[in-house]
Amino acid sequence: METVLSIDRLSKKYGKIQAVKTLSLEVQKGQIFGLLGPNGSGKTTTLSVILDLVKADNGSFQWFGSTPSKESRKRIGSVIESPNFFPYLNPVKNLEIVAEIKGLDYSDIKRVLTLTGLFERKKSKFKTFSFGMKQRLAIASALLGHPEILILDEPTNGLDPQGIAHIRELILKIAGEGTTIILASHLLDEVQKICSHVAVLNKGTKLFDGEVSEVLAISNSFELSSSSMEELQKAIRNFPGYKSHTSTVNLINVSFNKEVKPEDLNEFCFRHGIILTHLSERKRSLEQHFLELLQENQ
Ligand code: ATP
Repeated sequence: METVLSIDRLSKKYGKIQAVKTLSLEVQKGQIFGLLGPNGSGKTTTLSVILDLVKADNGSFQWFGSTPSKESRKRIGSVIESPNFFPYLNPVKNLEIVAEIKGLDYSDIKRVLTLTGLFERKKSKFKTFSFGMKQRLAIASALLGHPEILILDEPTNGLDPQGIAHIRELILKIAGEGTTIILASHLLDEVQKICSHVAVLNKGTKLFDGEVSEVLAISNSFELSSSSMEELQKAIRNFPGYKSHTSTVNLINVSFNKEVKPEDLNEFCFRHGIILTHLSERKRSLEQHFLELLQENQ
């Protein structure tokens, strides 16, 4: 594993507002890393700091294991603001201007337009583009010069479902070519569908980080049935980590405050003389986990 970004106890205040508070996290090469949090949780501020657009009050960050420099900056592409190009110019002309500013030659323009699905529209003026196409052109522009890292702030904001699907496919395609992606989003569904890793932010603080699949794999709720429902309800309260349960005539829904393996639950019941006739895991969605975390940290 190669750490491409490490953030160490970063804090940023705007006047009295604590936008980011002692935030630490690491992003490894090849990850699609989601910064997930509600509006105002500090995502854009974090991205702005690591792109040197805003200065942190405290803490530090490193790109590729070193203090950020002009050289490391060249290895990073980003789309932080809404797409802004010359309205009367076509995408090729617009990207030529970006290439000039970045000190790159024009040889990469065809590649990035093809990758983002805009090559057929190479003669259309920017002002005739749909919002989704404008967003894809912004991504194309960020991809000029083959950056190793692509940073996107709310990449699907304001897009219709088809536009969202296009951007999602595009991000996965870019990641498939080996680019590390860091994206900020307030949409759980987006993070769940695109990201391999996630850090959940609330009020500038990190509540959780880890693999998206790990979060999805946490089983702490089960449906159980037995021919002796009364015995089952009594016994289950003694299972380590028991939190609560609800019951109907022939089914109980039990929650634990830690991860529980179904085989352990089955064995426990058997030891207590209860034969289960039904046992089914209820995996938490990232949404449930996210909402629980936010509730616990109100
Ligand atoms: P959103 O999704 O709404 O953009 P976010 O998670 O990206 O939210 P930030 O934009 O980083 O969050 O904002 C974090 C906090 O800092 C918010 O309370 C916001 O109002 C405040 N803030 C952000 N930028 C500034 C600024 N330039 N001046 C003053 N306050 C700011």
